[in-house]
Amino acid sequence: MIQRNKEEISKLNLQIEDAIENYPNTQNILRAFQNVLLAKKRLVEGEISVDVDVSNVSTNRLEECVPVCRQIQLFSSDEPWEKVSFSLIPPIMTGFPALAKEMKKIEEAIKNEVFEFTEYFTSFPELKNDIVLKWASMTGIRPEVFQFFLINILKPVLGAKAKKAIPILGEFTWDKGFCPFCGGFPEIAVIKDKITERWLHCSCCGHQWRYNRIVCPYCGYEAKEEGSTYFFVEGKDQECAFVCDQCNRYLITLRRIRDTHELNPDIVSMKLCHLDALMQEKGFSPVAITEWNVFEPEVQ
Ligand SMILES: [Zn+2]
Ligand SMILES: [Zn+2]
Repeated sequence: MIQRNKEEISKLNLQIEDAIENYPNTQNILRAFQNVLLAKKRLVEGEISVDVDVSNVSTNRLEECVPVCRQIQLFSSDEPWEKVSFSLIPPIMTGFPALAKEMKKIEEAIKNEVFEFTEYFTSFPELKNDIVLKWASMTGIRPEVFQFFLINILKPVLGAKAKKAIPILGEFTWDKGFCPFCGGFPEIAVIKDKITERWLHCSCCGHQWRYNRIVCPYCGYEAKEEGSTYFFVEGKDQECAFVCDQCNRYLITLRRIRDTHELNPDIVSMKLCHLDALMQEKGFSPVAITEWNVFEPEVQ
């Protein structure tokens, strides 16, 4: 198990190096998040143990499009928030030196039990912004920085839970554009080679599910023809953005991918962030907001 985890981590590192080599313009963003991504991977692959009891999740309700997070309470009072925080604060400090002082303050506040993580997370998927504002002012940290920290610790815990729960749930039909586990929207889509299925990758827990190619994952609008729904950059036929004229959202998409197994959606999303810039310039908004497509802390 430990050996396999090590292999997974070095594979992830190789993917980051490969992305930087092929997309040198995204070097800053990938380098800033590199250690954060590696730490998250280690947490999800076994450094944290999480419980998720899906015995009260009904497949019928899933088929009526009620995600797991709306059928049961995903977070109990003893989730490993402290451990996850202490694993992620150092790589955030290295990757984002401009946030280092505030991260140190958060670390101190956790040690001194200034706030209780459960106050914020147990109401998931309804997360209350006023709690973030309160904690930010209590600790003297910018609210957007506190939010950045909370999102970063939420994702690996959700990821570990999804990894454990999804195999227990077995097969079920799901035809919504949001995640059947955590309700999150996709950060990227991947269209497979030959069979041309579109797979959406959740921006929060990392779960992936199959979805109709011409329906908008955000608003459910079905385009008349496939040709008009994808925006391409000249000379790159594997990379594009799905666009919806109805809700003005876009979804970064990789096409003709043979093996989706090895693919890390965060790395793909970061290396293609030039497409985000382009689509936002054209007036579209992303289907899912990520830490790198709207919030840009100084990386120098
Ligand atoms: Zn999810
Ligand atoms: Zn739409």
